[in-house]
Amino acid sequence: MKPSFGKRLTASYLFVVAVTLVITGWLLTPRLKQAFLSQLEQSLAIQTTLVAQVVVSSLHTPPVPAMIESRVLQFAHLTGCRVTLIRADGVVIGDSERSLEEISKMDNHLQRPEVQAALNQGRGESSRFSATLHEDMLYMAAPIAASQGRASGVLRLALPLTEVNHRIAAFQKNLLKAGAAAFVVALGVALVSVRKISRPLRELVTLSGHIGSGKVPETPNVDSRDEFGRLARAFHEMASRIEEKVAELTRERRQLGAMLSSLVEGIVALDHQGRLLFLNPAAEQLFAVRSADAKGRPFLEVLRHSPLNEVLTKTLAERRSVHQEIILHSPEERVISVNALTVDYGDNQTGVLAALHYITELRKLENVRREFVANVSHELKTPLTSIKGYAETLLEGAIDDPKHNRAFLQIIQQHANDLGRLIDDVLDLSTIEAQRVIYRFEPVAVKEVVERIVMALDPMAKGKKVTITTDLPDSLPKVRADREKLAQIVMNLVDNAIKFNKAGGQVRISAEPYEKTLRLQFKDTGRGIPAEDLPRIFERFYRGNKDRSHEIPGTGLGLAIVKHLVEAHHGTLQVQSTPGEGSIFSIVFPIA
Ligand code: ADP
Repeated sequence: MKPSFGKRLTASYLFVVAVTLVITGWLLTPRLKQAFLSQLEQSLAIQTTLVAQVVVSSLHTPPVPAMIESRVLQFAHLTGCRVTLIRADGVVIGDSERSLEEISKMDNHLQRPEVQAALNQGRGESSRFSATLHEDMLYMAAPIAASQGRASGVLRLALPLTEVNHRIAAFQKNLLKAGAAAFVVALGVALVSVRKISRPLRELVTLSGHIGSGKVPETPNVDSRDEFGRLARAFHEMASRIEEKVAELTRERRQLGAMLSSLVEGIVALDHQGRLLFLNPAAEQLFAVRSADAKGRPFLEVLRHSPLNEVLTKTLAERRSVHQEIILHSPEERVISVNALTVDYGDNQTGVLAALHYITELRKLENVRREFVANVSHELKTPLTSIKGYAETLLEGAIDDPKHNRAFLQIIQQHANDLGRLIDDVLDLSTIEAQRVIYRFEPVAVKEVVERIVMALDPMAKGKKVTITTDLPDSLPKVRADREKLAQIVMNLVDNAIKFNKAGGQVRISAEPYEKTLRLQFKDTGRGIPAEDLPRIFERFYRGNKDRSHEIPGTGLGLAIVKHLVEAHHGTLQVQSTPGEGSIFSIVFPIA
């Protein structure tokens, strides 16, 4: 792992301090050494000249070794140098570092460079390793003046060069101490400033991790006013805005997803290469695939349905909207209207969006409507043809035939009544189906309605010798119904129960409460309904085989109207029948 920004910045600070110290030491050490050396040389030269002046007297008189020795030691003490006295012939006669005995064994010094220079040029200087003292020494020599201007000897002062090295070492030690102090100060400064700088940076890192997760705080956690602080604040503002946008996009996406999911139409979206981008639940169900499995795969591979594939391929290839009806054969036969349009996804990429709409029901309805019109026309035509025929017969002379004219007119009237009933039923049914009927729901006492209808149909029942009995206790709860529509339901059922009854038959109307409903039963002792007719008697214009002969008047619309009205009351309608014995029609109504 890479060291943190703070650690790297601290290391840089310390590196700069260390480099400064090394460069300072490296540059200064030779200069200082030079300076120390020339200072040493200067003072040694002055001392040598002075001592050479003073020492003259020691050599004038015949030299007394003991005296020389004491003088030499005295000068050495005063100057702090090694003092050597050398005769003009090079013989050492005194040395502060050697005893008298040792002096006699010392080399002749005439050829020493400093001695030669002193004798010839008036001053000599040399720095070299001393064989006597075994260390680097700086020598300075001056001639000792004699009476006729000739040098009677040479005075030499010597200082060990280690002195210079000591001073340099002391300087370097101080430099190191200063460096260490600077190091500590730099470390402190670095730590403080790094903390200050890195706080906004840490805030940036935290913020960037939070973007899009809804965790960006409302206010930035930064107080510094410098560039980093400003950067962190600007970043916080940007993060907040991104956060808002992300939230907005997520919301919109969810809304769009919810809308697409709730569509009954199937929606299929393809990208520019014909790969599936999206299938809504309706489309998933239609093609029995899951959107998650299908995404990114070519639609030809996923939607194995050639007519649909043709539509999508055409839309993609020709880049134009295609509308086509297709038929799906499995799992059941369905007619689907496909509307495929091109969609511009940007970057020159045009995809396809297809809406698949079930129109099976629509087609069925169209067929029903067509049949209905054909049926109505047919039903109208029969009585009309009859009316027309009898009217023509009357006009052609039968009107003057007292035997038949009345009978013909009665037939015309009967057919006109049939026509009127048919037209009433058709109008009723069409208004009910078009949901243009306004229902006035209220608590209705079933007994009251049933008795009214029974009374109205009494003449018809008597005519057919059918007895109607009712079993409707006063305690029955009221139902929630539209009084007139309930009457219409009862009227149709009782009318059928009489109409399809046999002479001397019975119709029994009873009711009983069941949980929150009331069950109303119409039981007759008529001819019953064959099992194959049972599922169809509620269809429009459906009449039992025998009834099509018009022996029994009817339109085949009565039960269709009853069924619609019962459903509008949130009720249910059932029929049981035993051919030859009779039928039971039951309706269940919600209690008010
Ligand atoms: P309609 O009575 O005008 O023929 P409906 O829709 O009322 O038309 O009835 C449809 C058919 O159902 C009738 O033609 C008849 O064959 C049969 N049907 C209805 N009610 C009864 C009943 N109570 N007994 C026997 N058959 C019935």
